[in-house]
Amino acid sequence: MIVLKFGGTSVGNAEGIRRVGSIIRSCLDSDPFVVVSAVGGVTDRLFELRDLSLGGQLWEESFEALCAIHRDILSELGLDEGLVDGLLAELNTLLAELSSAGECTAKSLDHLVSFGERMSAPIVAAHLQAEGLTSQAVDAFDAGMVTDSRHQRARPLDDVNTRIRQACEQFEGVVVATGYIARDEEGNITTLGRGGSDYSASIFGSALGAEEIQIWTDVDGVMTADPRIVPAASPLKTLSFEEAAELAFYGARVIHPATMIPAVDGNIPIRVLNTHHPDFPGTIILGSPGEDDRGVKSITSKSHVSVVNVVAPRMLDQYGFLARVAEVFKLQEVIVDMIATSEISIAFTTQRGENLDSAIAELEEFSEVEVYHDMEQVSVVGEEIRERIGFAEEVFSVLRDLEINVELISFGATRINLSFLVGAGHAGEVVRVLHERLFER
Ligand code: ASP
Ligand code: MG
Repeated sequence: MIVLKFGGTSVGNAEGIRRVGSIIRSCLDSDPFVVVSAVGGVTDRLFELRDLSLGGQLWEESFEALCAIHRDILSELGLDEGLVDGLLAELNTLLAELSSAGECTAKSLDHLVSFGERMSAPIVAAHLQAEGLTSQAVDAFDAGMVTDSRHQRARPLDDVNTRIRQACEQFEGVVVATGYIARDEEGNITTLGRGGSDYSASIFGSALGAEEIQIWTDVDGVMTADPRIVPAASPLKTLSFEEAAELAFYGARVIHPATMIPAVDGNIPIRVLNTHHPDFPGTIILGSPGEDDRGVKSITSKSHVSVVNVVAPRMLDQYGFLARVAEVFKLQEVIVDMIATSEISIAFTTQRGENLDSAIAELEEFSEVEVYHDMEQVSVVGEEIRERIGFAEEVFSVLRDLEINVELISFGATRINLSFLVGAGHAGEVVRVLHERLFER
């Protein structure tokens, strides 16, 4: 069997869903298991509805627009316009409750944002049925997707594979499962984090022993750079799991960073494909390094990076300082990207968030802390970087020529990722010129 995951833009309108239908039809021999995202833009709108309802503002208009998006798709597909009305009514009640309570817990937020996928899956399944296929929409939590209770960033339980295998035995025909959402052991709805449907697809793929996990999106694969920054960027033929994970973590938006974890365990290839261009081979992500003959695979960037400098003058000849700092990160659940140390300081980068503020407050109890927000990070990724002599010189000469200062450098232990920080507004230019030097000549 194979798992096919369709993103929000792929199921964004009736035409998209028809394309999805024909892609599924063309691989019926491979026993497809389908995972879908919410209709494009719907998850954003659900988050917005939370803000509106909590702010005591009028949320009804935005809710009506959400209803119209789904009803219009259904009617254009010639399906029953009232197919998701039950869910819409449930959503309406929830919004009214939130608005009168004036608060939305992490648990309620997951309940709220789960409606996107819970509505898109039945629409896609109904379309497949109308096309004569046997198909069934399934909420991921009814297909064994059980996680811990960490709302908005839940992770599957250790025995998720068994749960999924058992639950999926009862289904018939083409299963269209909801991405992104799950439930915890108490039965509360959880989510895997924004963009988590890719991760859902690979969890299902690994549990069900898929031959391949296909991530269908609206670009030709993983690119040498973000085409919005570098119009000359081109799709990559192959990537290793490790390269793909680094790229995803460091800003490539095509695939959720956790997607590679279940695939590595089962050594299942992940293919990134374009719904608008279904015959194009896309990018295949495999266990062994890619065959593209390049020193470097891709350049990514990410903005709004925060740098925290922790200075302890008495660190000289001390031990245990790093452990203390690490303990704070662990307790506050701060994810650290890069670390650099000197005799008396540790600098690390992370994404800004509430946890960061509490972590800083704790760090200040035993050290001096300086924080710089809105820095930009550029990462160059590729298995071959580790063998290429003079590679760092090639990269940093670009910065010299652009007269841009580097704030922090990290060249990971695996040496497939060279990352550095530049000031706000500079990453785009650096990525463009680097791409020109590394790929365009
Ligand atoms: N619908 C969710 C989001 O927009 C999950 C996904 O699309 O992967 O984040
Ligand atoms: Mg996505």
